Order: sequence, then structure tokens, then C-alpha cells
Amino acid sequence: MAHELPALPYPYDALEPNIDAQTMKLHHDLHHKSYVDGLNKAEQKLTEARQSGDLALVKHWERECAFHGSGHFLHCAFWTNMAPANAGCGGAPTGEIAKKIGSDFGNWEGCKKQFTAAATTVEGSGWCILCYRPMDDKLTILTAEKHQNLTQWGVIPLLCLDVWEHAYYLKYQNRRPEYVNNWWNVVNWKDVNNRYHKAKG
Ligand code: MN
Repeated sequence: MAHELPALPYPYDALEPNIDAQTMKLHHDLHHKSYVDGLNKAEQKLTEARQSGDLALVKHWERECAFHGSGHFLHCAFWTNMAPANAGCGGAPTGEIAKKIGSDFGNWEGCKKQFTAAATTVEGSGWCILCYRPMDDKLTILTAEKHQNLTQWGVIPLLCLDVWEHAYYLKYQNRRPEYVNNWWNVVNWKDVNNRYHKAKG
């Protein structure tokens, strides 16, 4: 099932004067669309590579997935994170997230200050992102200077392999492929399944 560009949940000019209609149209119709197309192409190429057994370009297509996938998922959140001012948005947070921000950041003013400072100083093709961290049930603020750095924002890790040398060097020295090959023997699929069920909700 290919990824699709979601429709904007409001007209292009709905966020005027805060965000102008032309920017919204170009940003959504062209920029976001290119991420969707790029992700679909990369995933198709990886499917073909698995079928043919020719994995020579796997690094390239994984990078394309990271770049376009992160771009796609972040923009999907971005559009729905906004709404016309007359729809009651803006101002201080409300509801459960307001309570959570209060307990995790002290108060809304502190959270807003930190987020604003982070957003204004992040370098490159960046994002500033308030995230939920399930491990300790905390909110946290991230800045991404290059969203494609082998992540796809919004995913929840299910299976992780440490390939830093500290994870294998004493036994395998420079033979990382051997380490990886043997690691498959110790994967706890029950744990992977548990994580999958939780991630699905
Ligand atoms: Mn963008």
C-alpha cells in the first residue's frame, strides 16, 4: 500500500496572516508531495532488491527511506498540529497535555521558552519537536538538524542491534558481519512481539 499525500485539513489561506496561502500551497502540494513520492520509490526499490537478491544499493535506498520517510511523517503531524486561529487554537495548552506539560516542565511558560529557544537556534533542515517518551512517561523536546539521519520520526523501535565496536570487538574484532550473523541466534522474538502489540495499541 503506497503512501499518500494527505489533504490539508483546511484551505490554503486558513492560517493567514500567520502563514500565507502561497507558502502553504507550495509547502504542502510540492514539498510534502516530493517526500511521499521519494518514500514510495525507495520502498519499491527495496522490495525489488529483496526479490532479486541484488542488495548492492541497500545503503542508498535506506538513506532515501530515512530522508523521505522522516519528511513525510513530520509534515503529516505538522499540518494537523495547526488550525485556524478562529477555531480556538493558539494560546496556552488545554486538557491532559496542559497538565503533563505542567508536571514535566514546571509550567507552560518554561516549556514555551525552551521550545522557542530550541526552534530558533536549530541548524540546517531542522525541526523542533515535543515528543512523548514512553520509557519513563515523560515529555521531551528534540531538535533535529537533519531529519534523515537514519530515523523515521514517529516510529517506535521494535528490535535494536548495537553495532558499535564496543558491542562485539573483543570477540569478533573487525568481523562485524560474523557478529551480526550470530546475533540473529539470540533475538528474543517474544519481546519483539510484545513491543509490536504495544506499538499497535
Ligand atoms: Mn517542510
